[in-house]
This record gives sequence, structure tokens and C-alpha cells, in this order.
Amino acid sequence: MDYPSRFDVIVIGGGHAGTEAALAAARMGSKTLLLTHNIDTLGQMSCNPAIGGIGKSHLAKEIDALGGAMAMAADHAGIQFRVLNSRKGPAVRGTRAQTDRALYKAFIRNMLENQPSLWLFQQAVDDLLVEQDSIRGVVTQMGVRFYADSVVLTTGTFLGGTIHIGMQNQPGGRAGDPPALALARRLRELPLRIGRLKTGTPPRLDSRSIDFSKLIEQPGDTPLPVMSYLGKVEQHPEQVSCWIAHTNERTHEIIRAGLDRSPMYTGVIEGAGPRYCPSIEDKITRFADKDSHQIFLEPEGLQTREIYPNGISTSLPFDVQLELVRSMAGLENAYIMRPGYAIEYDYLDPRDLKHNLECKHITGLFFAGQINGTTGYEEAGIQGLLAGCNAALRAQGRDSWTPRRDEAYVGVLVDDLITLGTKEPYRMFTSRAEYRLILREDNADMRLTEKGRELGLVDDVRWAAFVAKREAIEQEEQRLSTTWVRPGTPQGDALAAHFNIPLSHEYNLLNLLARPEVDYAGLQQVTGNGLADQLAAEQVEIRTKYAGYIARQQEEIARLRASENIDLPADIDYWSISGLSREIQQKLTDIRPATLGQASRVPGVTPAAISLLMIQLKKRQ
Ligand code: FAD
Repeated sequence: MDYPSRFDVIVIGGGHAGTEAALAAARMGSKTLLLTHNIDTLGQMSCNPAIGGIGKSHLAKEIDALGGAMAMAADHAGIQFRVLNSRKGPAVRGTRAQTDRALYKAFIRNMLENQPSLWLFQQAVDDLLVEQDSIRGVVTQMGVRFYADSVVLTTGTFLGGTIHIGMQNQPGGRAGDPPALALARRLRELPLRIGRLKTGTPPRLDSRSIDFSKLIEQPGDTPLPVMSYLGKVEQHPEQVSCWIAHTNERTHEIIRAGLDRSPMYTGVIEGAGPRYCPSIEDKITRFADKDSHQIFLEPEGLQTREIYPNGISTSLPFDVQLELVRSMAGLENAYIMRPGYAIEYDYLDPRDLKHNLECKHITGLFFAGQINGTTGYEEAGIQGLLAGCNAALRAQGRDSWTPRRDEAYVGVLVDDLITLGTKEPYRMFTSRAEYRLILREDNADMRLTEKGRELGLVDDVRWAAFVAKREAIEQEEQRLSTTWVRPGTPQGDALAAHFNIPLSHEYNLLNLLARPEVDYAGLQQVTGNGLADQLAAEQVEIRTKYAGYIARQQEEIARLRASENIDLPADIDYWSISGLSREIQQKLTDIRPATLGQASRVPGVTPAAISLLMIQLKKRQ
């Protein structure tokens, strides 16, 4: 049969991880096949249609810096943009886009269909072809075989998925989609540690049944932010507001009274749920002293009346869902278009993975996304990009790329997962990164685009824009550092008056910008000179103001890098190292850290144990 059956890379699953994986591998020139249940659900947002937010925008922007799709899709589909934590320091700011679900999906599909070297095929994958601990290909539900020595598995919430509403449950990958049962069985036959997790989603409401006059309006930010480094405000569709409602004592009573029919509180669901995105039943139980919670009512799109009530994710029975929704002011007559539900699914213990997201036990088999124990589109997307990139590198006979914790949030995410594992869905926070001031959302391109270009992930258009921005920043810093202002001159006096600061002696403009009272926009206004590109101007300002802190973090990184660079051989026998406790021997044997630095992050591994490992390494030399 004249049909392409051999590929360099096969990606299973067309969610956020799978689409970024397939696009990345194909951008790098590898012949790539994306296999998914349904081509119409490519890039589908299973839960709320929003990209970014604190910690998550860092990941979306890293995807963007490496040429991926998510941030660009958010710019073309975003119907409300806000910068969260805007009053706090740049390290913890997070851009968030409420998107139109349909526009987002259409953008992703369009990118996939127009990506050279990428083939799409609609079929469930039921089996993996494994020979002598190496992946060789996959078999679809109707028995078609596709071959590749690099396969990326991104099945999200679908493996052995069970949907729960009240005490009723049924197999499902998410509402309206079938689960992946045969593949789940196959994975349990392989030497992998498989567990169960759970997540949930709220009921969706019809906007016509909501009394918005009783709610607080929350418009987007002005000026409008963009998500992608190539983004333009003109790409954004029409902008709309979100709304805020509140739960009350009665809502909480209704929920408490329904707990005896809650699958979570009656032991029907065993998998742990996301601690930081809890269900409403969790919230009122864990925070019993709070008499009200904010609920954000977010439009699902411009062409639909569906509203996503963010904050009431629930798997309570439908009658309780209706009652609790209607107990809130403004929602007294709310009509539920889709019930909320919880889903339980299989995940892989990520300690079975290496830093390149390849499985330790099956060569060439990569895992990315929710299947690795994470939650969230951004967490999935960046893992997909990394796994797709490493699958392509493997196919091309090149070394893997494994970003470090001090280079990128994806470095933090992967290192956390494979070193610590996870017992509940893992989501990204800025607090997980040690080097927050260096890993900002605003400088993801400065940190990663050059690497992305070297890997083959970044196209000519993005590269040219990046180089122009980098040059503009350097030239502007040079100009500011060589432009002097003196007290008693018209410009010196104008600056002193504008910023209300004494000008005691001669300053260059870069020194002046470092002062807390001075901002770049003001400098530009008074001197009539400066960068028109707002993103480049923002870089100049942040780099100048935080120069001292940034330099200190860089010194610390350089010091710690020494231990990150000491490799621990894969064949090291921890049981034979006397002096290590049995617990530490067991943990190091299970995790097999790649470097001394990674070993030091394994919980329970003490500085004394690290010294013993160093002695052992010296003996082997
Ligand atoms: P998914 O988006 O699930 O995509 C998996 C893809 O794989 C699908 O296209 C599927 O069709 C395909 N697939 C699966 N098995 C096969 C197979 N055998 N053969 C071929 N194709 C296959 N995230 C949050 O951040 N906060 C939340 O509150 C939140 N709540 C959620 C609630 C629910 C009910 C669900 C379902 C998800 C929720 N999420 C939430 C998670 C978010 O949707 C995921 O993190 C994200 O979609 C994961 O992306 P992914 O690519 O790993 O998987």
C-alpha cells in the first residue's frame, strides 16, 4: 500500500502537549506523524479557555521563545487580557488571556495543517510496538501500523479515564470523548509505575440566565498586553469583560449537605486532585472558616453564550450543582448548559523519566503533558515542545537538550517531576523556581530563542525579530550609559523636576534609570529620545533596575553549576556505598539522578550523603 507508514517521530495525542510536540519535531525537519482520536478536537481546551496567569505565562512565553504555538494562538484568540501581579516585581508578574475557545482551536489546527513535514491521522492508538526495550512504532484501533524509533505519548486525561458526577460514573477521556482503555492496559504491561490522579471542571452557564447587574464587572487591562514576542494588539479579536460573583453561607450549606453524595468524599474517587485548583467541595471543607469565595464568570467565546464560572469546579450530583449555583446573587435563575464533573485517569510516575522526558526503561519512548502528573495547558505545552524536540534530536542522531533549573521554568518543572515525582497534579508557580529574577516572563526570548534557533525550532521571521530586539536593547543601554546630564543645565533641571529628585552631580542616564524614582517612560518624555518598541524598552528598564540582584543570582548559579556538572554514572551501585542509609540508597537507586546536583535535590539526601558520593566518584576515576 502506497501510504506513509515510517516516520522519524510519532506523536500520540492532539492536546496541548501533543500539538506542540508534533510542531516542534516537524519544525526541526523530522518527518512527523500526529495521531489523535479526533482531528476536530486538536488543541481543545478541556477546562477553562484561558492561557497564562502567574507561573503559567512564564511557560507560555518559553514555548513562544522556542517557536511554539500557544502564545501566538492566545494573541489571536484572546478576548480579555490582564497582567496579574502588575504592582509586584517583574519576577512574579503573569500575563493572562481569556480566550475564545473556538478561535484558539482553529488557530492551532491551522498551524498544524500548514506545518511542512507534519502528517495528521485520526485514529486511536491501542498498542505500542516494543522490541528489546526500544520503541519501534504503534498500532491503531483499526490495526494500522506506523513505525518510528522515537514516539511521544501525550494522552492527557484519557488513559483509563472515568468521569464522575455524583455517585454515577462512566468511562470517558473528558466530557464527550472516549477514554483510551486498550493503551492504558498496554502501559500497565510495561515496566512502568502507573498511578491515578483526578481533576474536575465546573458546570457551564447560559449568559442569558444571569443577572449581570448584581455582579462586579472586571474589564481587561489598558494598554492591552500581548502574549507572544511576535504578538500585536491588532491581532486580538473584540475584547469583553469578565464578571465576579460570590458564594455565601447558603451555598456552603448546600455543598455540605451534598457531601454524602460526593464521589470524592465517599471514597469513590481514589486519585488525588489538584491542591491549587481545588473543587468547591474541597474549598469549603479545607477553608471552613471562610464564609465566601470569589467566582469569576468568564465568557467562553464571542459567538457563544456559554459562561465558565471559575472557582466552582465540582463533581457533586447535578441537583446539588444547580442549587449551589442558584444560591449566588446574580445567578438565581442560572441555567446550566453542561454539568460539572470530575475525571480520574492513569498517569506515569515521572520518576521513570530522564531529563529529556524519555522513559528510563524503553528507549525512544517519550512522555509529555498531563500523563506525567501535571495539570494545565501551559505545563503540558512546554513538556510537549521539549519531548518533541528531544524525539527529533534522537531521530537525527543528535544529543538531547535538557534545560537547567537556572535557564528556564521548563527546567524547573522537569527536574521537579523526575526527581521528586508527584502525588497530586503538579502546576507551576513562580515559588518553585530558585532563580526567579533571572527566569522572568518578560525575558523568556532573551533566555531561550538563541538556543531554539540552534536546535532548529526557531524560524527566520522570529529569529530576525529577536536579533533586532536584542540589538535595540544593547544599543539603548550603550546610549543611556554614555549620555550625561548635569545639574544646572536645562535637561538636568527638567529631569530633576519631573522625577522630583535632587541632582547633586553629573549622572549618565543609565545610573539615573537605576534609581527607584525614575522610570523609562519619564526619561523618554523629558529627553524626547528612546525606544519605540515597548518590549525592548521594558527589558532595558528591568535589566537596569535589578542589575545588582541579577548579578548576585548569576554568581550563585555559577557556584552551584559546579555540582550540576558532575555526572553520576548510570551503573553506580548505591547499595555498595557504605555510610549511606538504606533509605537514601533506595531513593538514589529508584531515581538514578543524572548529576550530583540532582542527587542533592532528592528529599532526604543529606550533605553528608553527597560527600560520600563525591568520594565514590573520586575512587572510580
Ligand atoms: P489533553 O489536552 O487531555 O489531550 C490529550 C489528547 O490525546 C486528546 O486529543 C486525546 O484525544 C488524545 N488521545 C488520548 N489517548 C489517545 C490514544 N490512545 N490515541 C490517540 N489519541 C489519544 N487544568 C488546569 O490547569 N486547571 C484545571 O482546573 C483543570 N481542570 C480540568 C478539568 C477536566 C475535567 C479536564 C479534562 C482537564 C482539566 N485541566 C485543568 C487540565 C488540562 O485540560 C490539561 O492539563 C491539558 O489539557 C493537558 O494537555 P495534554 O496535551 O497533556 O492532554
